Amino acid sequence: MEQELYIFNTLTRTKEKFEPIHPGRVGLYVCGPTVYSDVHLGNCRTFISFDLIYRYLLHLGYKVRYVRNITDAGHLEGDRDEGDDKFAKKAKLEQLEPMEIVQKYTLGFHDVMREFNLLPPSIEPTATGHIGEQIEMIKEIISNGYAYEINGTVYFDVEKYSKEFPYGQLTNRKLEDLLEGTRELSGQDEKRGRLDFALWIAAKPETLMKWNSPWGWGFPGWHIECSAMSSKYLGETFDIHGGGMDLQATHHTNEIAQSQACNHKSPVKYWMHTNMLTVNGVRMSKTAGNGFLPGELFTGNHPLLEKGYNPMSVRFFMMQTHYRSTLDFSNEALQASEKGYARLVAAIKTLENLKASASSTSNIKELEKACYDAMNDDFNAPILVASLFEGVRIINSVNDSKETITADDLLLLKKTMHSFVFGILGLKSETSNSSSDKALQGAMEVILNIRKDIKEKKDFVASDKLRDDLNKHNIIIKDTKDGPVWEIPE
Ligand SMILES: [Zn+2]
Repeated sequence: MEQELYIFNTLTRTKEKFEPIHPGRVGLYVCGPTVYSDVHLGNCRTFISFDLIYRYLLHLGYKVRYVRNITDAGHLEGDRDEGDDKFAKKAKLEQLEPMEIVQKYTLGFHDVMREFNLLPPSIEPTATGHIGEQIEMIKEIISNGYAYEINGTVYFDVEKYSKEFPYGQLTNRKLEDLLEGTRELSGQDEKRGRLDFALWIAAKPETLMKWNSPWGWGFPGWHIECSAMSSKYLGETFDIHGGGMDLQATHHTNEIAQSQACNHKSPVKYWMHTNMLTVNGVRMSKTAGNGFLPGELFTGNHPLLEKGYNPMSVRFFMMQTHYRSTLDFSNEALQASEKGYARLVAAIKTLENLKASASSTSNIKELEKACYDAMNDDFNAPILVASLFEGVRIINSVNDSKETITADDLLLLKKTMHSFVFGILGLKSETSNSSSDKALQGAMEVILNIRKDIKEKKDFVASDKLRDDLNKHNIIIKDTKDGPVWEIPE
């Protein structure tokens, strides 16, 4: 861990040197999916960004405990305290038990994470598996005087809390500004303050998912699960808490308040947030109708998509924008990234056959340092990718005998390219796994074998015709000393 890593902390709005609470160990918590529907691409971006962060921390030699929860209860429509439970609503719609909904979409979520080649987290706790811990935490918050119960529902007292602690510091907003943006309480409301939020919600007769508690039958509010599960597995104060930027203002702000009110400590040292997705410059959303699902992106089965894109080229595409910047999807950008990814993978293959010389014309140590510098600067993957393409340029120049490389430098170049491309960016070497690509691979093998037979019979007219005909279809055959190879140029 000689590397000095800097992380942009949302809490202080500055890049800070990363110093874990316990040397050599990192506690990382990321808010996971609410499994009542297919995971959307914006969430995938968040999880892929934190996979990069997790992989880099592991690469640096830290022992990381990575907790990413599954929200399978308590998340109400519009992220508020009233309205329908997302699971109950979907269960009615699909005529299933709420837990069947949970199972169906948890499996679907895991499939997508596998397609994108994410490492599984160390622990993936569920809200329903931690109802007891949530109840205990709420009891403690009440006894510390920061929550109150009305008709079986427990509310967090934001005004009382904010007299002692800063509330809204994640978004740098003062209580008055927050109050201004909230509607006045009506006679219908039970809660005392406009910003108060539910820790426990009393069940109605029709509520499907409910548990017994000191306040009667009910279910936990959405925010309390993350406070309860993060402190259970990572301690009352831990290193990194991440999530999408949309969680800053309410979910994460309330997590801080709950943990502080329960444990008298601020729960997190570094807060990290990923930015949003746009499609052709417009924010991706259901209402804008431009929100395609990962599956649709892989098959191309959506009006906005010209074709399907391999999960690895999509992952590579996401790596070309820093996690704190907006990521814009367009067919042009995806196709450019698909070609770039193919070039990168091709160069890594070429790297295996490079011959060493007595001297190097490029400084490989500098290249390696540039890769680390990029990642140490708040996980700047796009700068890292630019350095990796410098590596591609060197590989191709050495291969074309325009440059030379020593045996030691060749080893270092291989190590650098492999660790950063596969280990840290989390890419796999297959440029495509579609069945048609596999069929093309097989067909080309058959054709090259036929051409070999023709050449052995010295029918050079036929073998040249075969080569020229393939050329017309943009398939180039090259005869090398190790036998023929084929490629489809960009
Ligand atoms: Zn959360």
